[in-house]
Amino acid sequence: MQVPFFRPEIGEDEINEVVDSLRNGWLTTGPKTQAFENDLANFLGGSVEAIAVNSATAGLHLALEAIGIGPGDEVIVPDFTFTATAEVVRYLGGEPVFVDVDPHTLNITPALAEAAVTPRTKAIVIVHFAGLPCDVPGFMRLAARRGLRIIEDSAHALPARVGGAMVGTHGTDAVVFSFYANKTITTGEGGMLVTRDPALAKRARTMRLHGFDRDAFSRFQTGSWRYDIVAPGYKYNMTDMAASLGLHQLRRAEAFRNRRAEIAHQYRTRLAGLPLSFQADADGDGMHSWHLFVARVGAQSPLTRDALFEALGDRGIRCSVHYLPLHSFTYWRERYNLSPRAFPVSEACGQTIISLPLYVGMTQAEIDYVVAALSELTTGRV
Ligand SMILES: *Cc1c(COP(=O)(O)O)cnc(C)c1O
Repeated sequence: MQVPFFRPEIGEDEINEVVDSLRNGWLTTGPKTQAFENDLANFLGGSVEAIAVNSATAGLHLALEAIGIGPGDEVIVPDFTFTATAEVVRYLGGEPVFVDVDPHTLNITPALAEAAVTPRTKAIVIVHFAGLPCDVPGFMRLAARRGLRIIEDSAHALPARVGGAMVGTHGTDAVVFSFYANKTITTGEGGMLVTRDPALAKRARTMRLHGFDRDAFSRFQTGSWRYDIVAPGYKYNMTDMAASLGLHQLRRAEAFRNRRAEIAHQYRTRLAGLPLSFQADADGDGMHSWHLFVARVGAQSPLTRDALFEALGDRGIRCSVHYLPLHSFTYWRERYNLSPRAFPVSEACGQTIISLPLYVGMTQAEIDYVVAALSELTTGRV
């Protein structure tokens, strides 16, 4: 049996909507992008503004630009994340400051972040790893106390909930979702910046498209050809072809999440007792999006993570690793002289963590096959 790591869930509605865009001739940012922004804002609730972009990386860049990150500014980020979380700080000449994560949630915590605050710290980018939300209220209290801004890298966290509220609605400075091909919902490539700050929203809309004082679509709607350039902006707008996918994916986001949660529940219960440990689940008034299901391979396993990864691959089961810690990569290590000793949890995860196949269309036979293979390989009982 072949079990892929991920398979996107694209239905006839998505396909027909893209074809409609191709036929109606509005290929780039237009009515469907605007509808997708409105739908996502409504989906989250909490009177947020949503700004569609062509990747979450672009959205994170726009968010940091809008809060004024510049040369010399320090921005605290988790070491245990995808490189995009930190690279956007460098785009603006800022300095990422890396911190370790909690061993149970695998998330950055207010206490870990506060220990890294200096007089140059301007912001913290928190990452809801695998879709388990960080302590957003705790970060907001820290931000208020220390005069910092909070940006949420929510690439994994649609939909997720913490403190009884949807991730995206807590009122941090900005929240950025990803619609990359293997994220919880997809537009192929795409992202959404969400904020309750009207000034931040205005700046992000301007910088999303060349620094126009308003975007091409609203210019078209009002029929005026005049525009002004108020800043050297970027080219980060979403296309209507991508939004066509997003409109229908969003309608299925809750059902997708419930199916992933069901598979995660099977993994957690059926793999219990093996030398594998799991990320904490969300607490009572929270919700894990289950973008990823990660396991840490324990010392009692006869196979190391690397050997297990290979043995699963030999059985046709494709896994992945999220993440090799940022301190282990040449650029970050050399630029910031990072030592693994500063990040014991992240370092250990980098050596022991494995992401198991998890996607909405996974069949019961595929789940059973993965569970059986893991049971055999981690106990040596064949
Ligand atoms: C995928 C991802 C991103 C980047 O998303 P893109 O839409 O591909 O730019 C950023 N941060 C994290 C944690 C991610 O997993």
